[in-house]
Amino acid sequence: MPRPAKRTRSRKRVFKALPGGRTSIHYKREVTAQSSCSLCGRPLTVIPNLSPSEIRKLNRTKRRISRIYGGQLCHNCLKTALKQAARILNAF
Ligand SMILES: [Zn+2]
Repeated sequence: MPRPAKRTRSRKRVFKALPGGRTSIHYKREVTAQSSCSLCGRPLTVIPNLSPSEIRKLNRTKRRISRIYGGQLCHNCLKTALKQAARILNAF
C-alpha cells in the first residue's frame, strides 16, 4: 500500500522496470495542456502553462489576455474575424 500522500489520483503513475526484473512505481505531476487558439490551434503564449493551483497564485492580469476573446482566439484570428464581421454588417 502506498503511503497516504501518494494514494491520490492527481499524480500520474509511471511503472519503471528495475534491473533485477521487478517494477517500481514513480509518481509524476500531471502535465497541463498549453491553451491554444480555437480556430488555428496556435498556442496562446501569454497564458502560462501551469497547474490550476499555481495559476491561482498569479495576478489576474497574468492569467488572461485582456482583449476580447483573449482566452479563445489568437490576435491574427481575432483580426480576421472582426474584419469579416464588419464586412457582413456593411453588406446590409
Ligand atoms: Zn488563431
